[in-house]
Amino acid sequence: MEDEFRQRVRDWMAAHLTGEFAALAGTGGPGREHEHVELRARWERVLGEAGWIGLGWPAPHGGGASIAEQVAFHEEYARAGGPGRLSHIGEHLLAPTLVAHGTDAQRRRFLPPIAAATELWCQGYSEPEAGSDLANVQTRAELAGGRWHVTGQKVWTSLAHVADWCFVLARTTPGSTRKEGLSYLLVPMDQPGVTVRPIVQLTGTSEFNEVFFDDAVTDADLVVGAPGDGWRIATSTLAHERGVATLGQQMQFARELDAVVERARATGAFADPVVADRIADAWAGLQGLRHHALRTLRNDDPDPAAASVAKLLWAGWHQRLGELAMAVEGAGATLVDAAPYDLTDAQRLFLFTRADTIYGGADEIQRNIVASHVLGSR
Ligand SMILES: Cc1cc2nc3c(=O)[nH]c(=O)nc-3n(C[C@H](O)[C@H](O)[C@H](O)COP(=O)(O)OP(=O)(O)OC[C@H]3O[C@@H](n4cnc5c(N)ncnc54)[C@H](O)[C@@H]3O)c2cc1C
Repeated sequence: MEDEFRQRVRDWMAAHLTGEFAALAGTGGPGREHEHVELRARWERVLGEAGWIGLGWPAPHGGGASIAEQVAFHEEYARAGGPGRLSHIGEHLLAPTLVAHGTDAQRRRFLPPIAAATELWCQGYSEPEAGSDLANVQTRAELAGGRWHVTGQKVWTSLAHVADWCFVLARTTPGSTRKEGLSYLLVPMDQPGVTVRPIVQLTGTSEFNEVFFDDAVTDADLVVGAPGDGWRIATSTLAHERGVATLGQQMQFARELDAVVERARATGAFADPVVADRIADAWAGLQGLRHHALRTLRNDDPDPAAASVAKLLWAGWHQRLGELAMAVEGAGATLVDAAPYDLTDAQRLFLFTRADTIYGGADEIQRNIVASHVLGSR
């Protein structure tokens, strides 16, 4: 059954990642979000028409695919070189949140355009003074004239420059502090009260942004959960961000490791026993990551620390792979031409993986979660 499904995905990818879309193989994703944005948006609509988006959402909202089928889809997608997804924040973060906590009207309004990739989303959580300390959110919103009026600043908002909508964590109870008095609002991006300013990264590209809300508005009923219950809703989204949403990663990592091994053969780096040792270590580490992910995703009674453990494991592994990719290339890899940079794959991997131990919750925070919420409470 699983093999049949896997073969169906493989055949579909072989038949569709062709013609104009052939140029997309291996593009997009972390460090490469600037590549072929319009063509990737079109590609995602083709994916949507074929029913591949929302595969893991429970029926009747989506495909109701089993974990094994979702794993097979993500693996085959990555194996075929499927491009990095622009619609993954809507599909993997907002949609499961709406399924669990949204109203019927919200699900009817928002799930179909996410599944069709006709509406793209971004995640408006972090602020200049609220990253690891997310409960310090200061963006505020008030209800007036039947609409929420939102004012404040978000930062590091991935893909805000292409997003149609943003799910925003905002303080709606005046005078409230920390986790109380927050609400989870769905805010349209295309309006005068929203300004998106790209942040240029170390890689020379811009995939995340500052987002300014200056009396931006959204309808009164576009709050997920009750007003004031935003912390609970926001943390349920985070569980998805650190969980099933990372399924496709393993195959992408395997492709990156294969490329590093191939370069090591070409450059003769295997002759250096230290580099050879690190390559073997990377290979063994990847087997560990894969087994951990499969074991935890298949577990019906998930360990509350599992998502944090998985994040810690893959972030460190991937960062070391970036360092290894540079070592394999040798000292010359530390040179680039003046901006705009034309980075090699190794340089891009090395630079972008610096962010792995920060986004989706920094390593220190994951360790705090494992220590205090799990080990400390046993
Ligand atoms: C590539 C990328 C994409 C991102 N995309 C988004 C997005 O789409 N939407 C969004 O809302 N956010 C996004 N973020 C933001 C991300 O969630 C934050 O960067 C992250 O939560 C850390 O917050 P911060 O940058 O404010 O760092 P800080 O919270 O200021 O942390 C700085 C350092 O101090 C450490 N530290 C902080 N508090 C503690 C503590 N209590 N104990 C021990 N150590 C601590 C941290 O671990 C870190 O090393 C993205 C970030 C990156 C890098």
